[in-house]
Amino acid sequence: MLHQRIETELAAAAAEGLTRRVTDLRFTGAVTARDRQGREYLVFSSNNYLGLTFDPRVRRAAAAAAEAFGSGSTGARLTTGGVMEASDLEQELAAFKHGEAALLFNTGYMTNLGVLYGLARPGDLIFSDELNHASIIDGCRISRATVVVYRHGDAADLEAKLQAHPAPPGAVRFLVTDGVFSMDGDVCDLPALVRLKEAYGCLLLVDDAHAVGVLGRDGAGTASYWDLPGAIDLQVGTLSKSLASVGGYVVARRKIIDYLKNKSRPFIFSTFPSPADTAAAREALRILRTEGETLLGRLRRNTARIRQGLSDAGIPVLPGDTPIVPVMVGAADRATALDFRLREEGILLSAIRPPTVAPGASRLRLTVTAAHTEAQLDFVLDRLAAAWRQG
Ligand SMILES: *Cc1c(COP(=O)(O)O)cnc(C)c1O
Repeated sequence: MLHQRIETELAAAAAEGLTRRVTDLRFTGAVTARDRQGREYLVFSSNNYLGLTFDPRVRRAAAAAAEAFGSGSTGARLTTGGVMEASDLEQELAAFKHGEAALLFNTGYMTNLGVLYGLARPGDLIFSDELNHASIIDGCRISRATVVVYRHGDAADLEAKLQAHPAPPGAVRFLVTDGVFSMDGDVCDLPALVRLKEAYGCLLLVDDAHAVGVLGRDGAGTASYWDLPGAIDLQVGTLSKSLASVGGYVVARRKIIDYLKNKSRPFIFSTFPSPADTAAAREALRILRTEGETLLGRLRRNTARIRQGLSDAGIPVLPGDTPIVPVMVGAADRATALDFRLREEGILLSAIRPPTVAPGASRLRLTVTAAHTEAQLDFVLDRLAAAWRQG
């Protein structure tokens, strides 16, 4: 039975050109990589927004930690999986995000699972933007709270739904949103969400995975961008994007963090990442805090150059000012063909197709980093425009 079902589903995906494949790559620099055949690529699809994965200081910090403290953490933090610097990193993240305390998880994905599963329970209500990341959707599911999905970025729809779904006695209501939406690259309307959370007595969770190292003068994310420090109850983030490592975290009131340490199963029952991961993230965060202005300036100049170039070439792009640049293609097979053609030219970006996005909304998702040179940006603009004209 299972075999048959799998065959049918894989064949259906293949017929629509929607088969997902793993690409084995080895990075040779912050934005360059090589595949198994030795072909070189310029990468326009990574989340390495500040290019810090190849910063010599970050690499040295990771190597030194592995050398000094071993290759793995050997367990969960509540058992013997001690990485002493993890607590230091938590304090540094909490300070950076203007919160009381932080808790690290193994990935950003696990953080959303751990926070939503840890805090929300059956009877509670979670109001969730329809374009939220899969890890939020899955966290909502395993919490078994009632999930109310509101239209993307639509505060009026959210308010109508808050009115239609009052909290039962003893229940908690959560508002949950991406800070920067991972597929559209737009920024959530934090002032509207804060107004609603206060008016309706909700707890607000913002996932800053694509916002840290991107938004705000200091790169601290959504609250910084909107100049509303302290307004978000639960600031989720990842160490895997701008912070050049792997891991996830939540910043919140100390009581909430203490509670999660005691109750959040993804925190309790999974081995913590390695000392090298923690050391790399700490060094990346240190660089963001001390050299953020330079790095963010470069990221913003590069983002503006690509967005302007695409617009000049008449290529439709979703508006916004983040380095996630969605080139709207429409049909899934055309997105696949463009992706393929650009690969031939040595450019890697992601064709995003259903079910990740709605049918007819397939796109090439181009991400810009601070590490791209102007020549590299102009090269991708030139090649993309040529591929676009050819159909
Ligand atoms: C990437 C991402 C995550 C997952 O983070 P990982 O550390 O890669 O697991 C969570 N939420 C959003 C919005 C993301 O874009």
